[in-house]
Amino acid sequence: MTRSDREQRLYDIWDDSLSAQERELVDRARAFCQEVLVPFAQMAHRDRLPMSKAVVRAWAATGLQGMQTPTEFGGQGASYFTKIRVVHELSRHSFAAAFSLNNSHSMVTMLATQTAPGIRNAYLPALLKGEMVASVALTEPQGGSDLGATRTSAKRADGGWILDGEKSWITNATISDLAVVTAQTGKGTRGIGRFLVDLNAAGVERTGAHAVEVGHAVGAGGLKFTQVWVPEHHLLEAPGEGFKRTMESINGARIHVAAMAVAALERALQQAVDYCSERFAFGKALIEQQGLRWQLADVANQLEAANLLVYRGAQMVHQKLPAALAAAHAKKFATHVAVPGIEACMQAMGATAMLASTGLARQLAEIKMAGYADGTTEVQNERIGGLLKGCYGT
Ligand SMILES: Cc1cc2nc3c(=O)[nH]c(=O)nc-3n(C[C@H](O)[C@H](O)[C@H](O)COP(=O)(O)OP(=O)(O)OC[C@H]3O[C@@H](n4cnc5c(N)ncnc54)[C@H](O)[C@@H]3O)c2cc1C
Repeated sequence: MTRSDREQRLYDIWDDSLSAQERELVDRARAFCQEVLVPFAQMAHRDRLPMSKAVVRAWAATGLQGMQTPTEFGGQGASYFTKIRVVHELSRHSFAAAFSLNNSHSMVTMLATQTAPGIRNAYLPALLKGEMVASVALTEPQGGSDLGATRTSAKRADGGWILDGEKSWITNATISDLAVVTAQTGKGTRGIGRFLVDLNAAGVERTGAHAVEVGHAVGAGGLKFTQVWVPEHHLLEAPGEGFKRTMESINGARIHVAAMAVAALERALQQAVDYCSERFAFGKALIEQQGLRWQLADVANQLEAANLLVYRGAQMVHQKLPAALAAAHAKKFATHVAVPGIEACMQAMGATAMLASTGLARQLAEIKMAGYADGTTEVQNERIGGLLKGCYGT
């Protein structure tokens, strides 16, 4: 059947936005999932293991670690739409493993495009090969939503800065070599700077992976800084700009997490539809039982709406338009419908849904994390609420 003869499928809208080369990157991501990500996600869950450098290297070997890095710096120069489409492929199998690899890829893009040549030349080649991994460290043990309350301090010292403080919930903390760390240089949001910290430097302690019940593959853990000296050129922006830059990049990250939730739900629906088409009860395929097909129709309906919100947000990020509201709507809605949606798909599959081979119970637990990462649902509400008058009032 040609595209014009069939109804539009969920990812068509995305694939239509990609070039042939970008679609080939999506194919590479699909192959990587079968060969590496799926077996790793199952093992990481079973053995409670964080992301490994070997998996990051295998990911980097596909070229996808540098998918958004400009070609003149050794990357693929692909679009934000490609990044989203690639993460669909990863996240439909494991939100946790996809989150870890995406985090690592996003840091490569950031260091390739937003840092001075000195830093780029020093680290980019190793990062692109997966020989080094970088993280972003904002959240602290006392709280993550209120970035303005950052307690990690940065004080001027000869030729640089001295950092003291603690960070928690840092994705890939167990394997990272570098971290972009937010620290307070004065007071309030205007004092917040972003520093590139070598995690093998004196005074840096990794406090280990958090003892999570699910989602070990994220490799989330703590970092402690005691009198860590950071050279002046590792201050990525002037204090104050650090907060602004973090807020600017958060919209793209939120839309991305929303896309991951869409992909997890899409895979659960696919599994439920396939199962219910082949399983019979009371003389009919389950999919022909009205009560059950309506239940799955509700899931499909929310999935389509979430996908369109994510697509609208991605268009705005791609066009460099203000995207705070679109990102908040996409993240809130997609992460909100994914949890009950996956649960409904599992219900339609009966006890089979609980088999480890389906990956559904694991994915249901992993997707809960999407409601926290890159801003909680309540933080999205605050963002939407703050824009009510401006965007919906007369
Ligand atoms: C899988 C995963 C990966 C992560 N990776 C990273 C990472 O790489 N780097 C990093 O820095 N952080 C990371 N985080 C941390 C994440 O950014 C924080 O969990 C998030 O910002 C929320 O902070 P918190 O958990 O400290 O909750 P808190 O800020 O303590 O909030 C607790 C509760 O209060 C609610 N709340 C807060 N303020 C308000 C308000 N004004 N009104 C109403 N309710 C409110 C919150 O929504 C939440 O429900 C990760 C988290 C997860 C789950």
